[in-house]
Order: sequence, then C-alpha cells, then structure tokens
Amino acid sequence: MKIEAVDLFYLAMPEITDEADGSQDALLVRVSAGGLVGWGECEAAPLPSIAAFVCPKSHGVCRPVGASVLGQVLEGPEDIARIAALVGYNSMDLLQAPHTFSGIEMALWDLLGKKRQEPAWRLLGYKTAHRKTPYASLLFGDTPQITLHRARKARQDGFSAAKFGWGPVGRGDVKADADHFVAAREGLGRDAELMVDVGQIFVEDVEAAAARLKPLDEAGVLWIEEPFHGGALEAYAALSARGARVRVAGGESAHNVHMAQHLIVYGGIGFVQIDCGRIGGIGPARKVADLAVARGVTYVNHTFTSHLALSASLQPFAGLSESRICEYPADPKALAAAITENHIVPGADGLIAAPDAPGLGMDVDLESLKPYLLDTEIRVGGQVLYRTPAI
Ligand SMILES: [Mg+2]
Repeated sequence: MKIEAVDLFYLAMPEITDEADGSQDALLVRVSAGGLVGWGECEAAPLPSIAAFVCPKSHGVCRPVGASVLGQVLEGPEDIARIAALVGYNSMDLLQAPHTFSGIEMALWDLLGKKRQEPAWRLLGYKTAHRKTPYASLLFGDTPQITLHRARKARQDGFSAAKFGWGPVGRGDVKADADHFVAAREGLGRDAELMVDVGQIFVEDVEAAAARLKPLDEAGVLWIEEPFHGGALEAYAALSARGARVRVAGGESAHNVHMAQHLIVYGGIGFVQIDCGRIGGIGPARKVADLAVARGVTYVNHTFTSHLALSASLQPFAGLSESRICEYPADPKALAAAITENHIVPGADGLIAAPDAPGLGMDVDLESLKPYLLDTEIRVGGQVLYRTPAI
C-alpha cells in the first residue's frame, strides 16, 4: 500500500471555555491507502497542527509533516516506525510536528490492522488485551461540596476509581486543598481508588507540593499527578524522594520517548501517563511501556477526549496485566462522544479492554460530527495550502 491521502478535520464545540478540558475541540485524521482508511486523533490545538502538516518548508530539517508521510509505503509495523523516524528527522525544528504526527501514526495502525484483520495491540506483539479498571477522570469542583457531589456521582455511575484534577487545587492554601481531597474520598468511599492531578500548578516549587503530601496520604490517594512542569526533573526527583505513600505520576506532556524516559529514569515517578495523541502515536508509547516494565514503573494511558483516542491509548499497554488501571474520559463534551459510533463501555465486571477488532476497532460517525466541523483554509502567497476536505 501507498499512503495516498491524509485528511485533517478541525472539529470544535460552539464555545471554547477556559476549563482545562481538552475535549472541547479535536483534530481528526483520516489516512487513505490501498482502498482502506484509518482514523486517528491529535491531542493538540487543531489549527497549528494542520499548519505543521502543510506549512512551506522552512529549511532542510524544518519541513512540513506531510512531506515525510504522503506517498510512503505502508506494509507493516516497521513502515510506521520508518515513517516516524523520517518525520522526526525532517521536522526536528518544527515543534508542532510530534502532535500532528501522533494522530497520523494512530491512523496508520488502524489502517494496517484493517488490512490484516488484526487489532493494533496484536500487531504490537501482545497476545491478549487484558481487562482494566477504568478510572473516571474528572475536574475538581469550585467548592469541596461540588467535588463531593461529583465523586458520589462517579460512584453511582459504577466507577470504582476516580481522578480529580485542576480547578482550585494548588491555588489556595494547603487546608483548602485538603478539604477537596477529603470531599473526593468521602464521595467515592473508602474502597475506591482515588488519584489527584494538580496540572503542573507548582511549576518547580518542591516545598509547595510537599506540603500537600500529608493530606494526600490521609485521603488515601494513590498518586499525585503532574505536580511540576513536565521538564522539571529535579523537582520530580526531589518530591519522589520524600517517601510519601502517595506516588508521583507524570508523562502526559511528553512529546517524545526521551521525555517520558527522563521522567522515569531521573524523575523517580511511580506512574507514567502517556497520551498517544502527543507522544508521536502508539509505537513510541509502546516503547515507554516496555521501559516502564523494566524499571518497575506502572504505565497508564492519558486520555481525556474521544473513544477513538481512548482505544489508541489502550493499545500500547493492552497486554500488560500488571497495569490494571486506565484513564477513562467520564464527562467529555458532546463533540468527543459524537466522534465514534461505538464506545468502549465497562462490562458487567466494571472493566474495559482495548477492542478485539481490526485496527483500533472504532467506527467514526461522519454524520454526527458534521455539525462540529469548522470550515478552514490556510493560504500563503495566494496559494491555498489547506482547505477542509470533503467528509
Ligand atoms: Mg493530567
């Protein structure tokens, strides 16, 4: 097969708010080859990601992503890795390139899986897609009462694990944060798994983060996620070394394998969380999963958007039985739900697994996403470089 076309669709909710909710827009990717199509999704701002695909060459290693993808041969996983290496080298100075390529890379696995009638996780070498406990990924409320209500609802919705993040936590004093941790625990009950995501709020301030360790331990929190900037490795290492029961988690900001590797090797994290829509797709995520196993770190997906992205994010660690927990977008915007016809829903056991179906196993719902499609054009020097393709 030859890659004949890569179509990028800019989708957005009618209103984009300041909430740290990445499901408000989406860049959906369709790759065509050999009479088949594969789908993927970038976890990135759509417009600059489209621009990274079509922009004029800036110099020899600042080429548009499209130049390294279109016309390439796709016969096996080794071709996906080869194309990824081409993009990595030819676009090394184009910082949006990994984000753009992430959605394309997912689509290549989807396409190859459809061609071979195998799920992507089997193409990655796994024999089984182990069932995992989905944790509801939620935002802290503006008040502990709202947090309590959201935690109770997650429990009523059948989740035995939940993560609360962002919102006011880290912006006030330690007591205010502790009240939210207590509320989340109370709403979930003692027997549920609770995680906390502070969304880089402490930047590199180890003492500010460390002041939260005791209330986190008291609330029985499994991990504190992204206390610092994704590159603040010394701060990660210093906090991890405090020896709290709560472990440090991070990795969603990794744009390549090396960034995730550094968090594992130098940052001392206990959980590495990878977003396939950012790190370059499923192949690089699988490499991180292997490294995590070798280092005794637990691999977890990072997914806050559609079930297409969820399926892609489950593939790299589908076969790891010891990685038993996975992020599940519990309250995404309507757009994210509209992207696929089918959804990955917990079974009677409350668990989910990567689909046992060709490719990513998700059917994109063209009709239901049409209302969210933003008509877009990029024009340079009188030449149209991009126009929204026909759906
Ligand atoms: Mg997070």
